[in-house]
Amino acid sequence: MNKIPPFDVSQQYQQIGDRLNQAALAVLASGQYIGGQTVSQFESEFASYIGSKHGIACNSGTDALYLAMRALDVGEGDEVITSPFTFFASAETISMAGAKPVFVDIEAHSFNLNLDLLEAAITERTKAIMPVHLFGRPVDMPKLMAIAKKHNLYVIEDCAQATGAISNGEKVGNIGDVGCFSFYPTKNLGGCGDGGMMTTNNAEIDKKLRILREHGSPQRYYHEYIGMNSRLDSLQAALLQVKLPYLDKWNAQRREISDRYTQLLKEANIPNLVTPHHCPGSVWNQYTICIGDGKRNDIQAKLREQDIITMIYYPLPLHLQSVYKDLGYTKGTFPVTEDICDRVLSLPMFPELSEEQQDRVVITLKGLI
Ligand SMILES: *Cc1c(COP(=O)(O)O)cnc(C)c1O
Repeated sequence: MNKIPPFDVSQQYQQIGDRLNQAALAVLASGQYIGGQTVSQFESEFASYIGSKHGIACNSGTDALYLAMRALDVGEGDEVITSPFTFFASAETISMAGAKPVFVDIEAHSFNLNLDLLEAAITERTKAIMPVHLFGRPVDMPKLMAIAKKHNLYVIEDCAQATGAISNGEKVGNIGDVGCFSFYPTKNLGGCGDGGMMTTNNAEIDKKLRILREHGSPQRYYHEYIGMNSRLDSLQAALLQVKLPYLDKWNAQRREISDRYTQLLKEANIPNLVTPHHCPGSVWNQYTICIGDGKRNDIQAKLREQDIITMIYYPLPLHLQSVYKDLGYTKGTFPVTEDICDRVLSLPMFPELSEEQQDRVVITLKGLI
């Protein structure tokens, strides 16, 4: 039997390989490998897709988050509130900037920050909130922005898994002060290497982000800040430029696949299996079910024996990571997050996943539980 992978980024190459080849060869022949027109064109195309005035390309989603923090002067002595149930980079970049990550428990049905718990975590040191639109599912941004406004806090959106997701009619990344995106190959808009983007509607933040990503240097060899080298290669920009017009189609395919998964799983009526909550604004970077009764790891292993590869995002919450032991969180601090980490299982999900493959995933699951 054929293997069903969790994602298959080579399928996009099979669809539009000729155009990608052409774009790559044009960059190679141009001799303009860093910066230049291709990068600035892609920046404005991406910003306009999100609806933002400014798009600032950089080397990764991680750098985007870090640079956003630096541009907003988040640093030593500041606290930034984020989710304990996310990829490490969300909290890591808060620490890299010199600030302290403060975690708040999540909601079981959305896997995102529980906004009802947010205000209790705000102190006089809190400078920003970093909502993470996990698995492609938008945080309730109107509610979050109202809290941020009331307490005069910056909002840095971690949109790494949610390019194109919509919260209350607005694309994520265009709602907070800075939106941070990743073009890691398995993200909804994935490059052929590392890449990232920041979006903002504030001209001053835009200017500072551009300076910071290039050695804190507004003019070559004159330095105003300690910045870094975080540029997007022209080659990646050219490849992403080819892919961007397909993003809505690919996201629609992900939506269809997720609806079909939910329908099939409900019909299969598998005990102790919870399907993800319906969410029309999600772009389904992951389709994540929960399996109770301590059976999750066993089910994952058995699926693997049948050549169906699933993923556990994430097995250990950030507040219990060894690197954060000095923050003083203990087991039991965030009961919803800790429970979810023991139950989540992300099923194979990519735009080209076929109905036959989906059927096999569901039938196999039903046979196992
Ligand atoms: C992928 C990811 C990042 C980091 O992006 P990179 O481009 O890999 O540096 C940050 N936050 C979340 C939630 C992610 O999934």
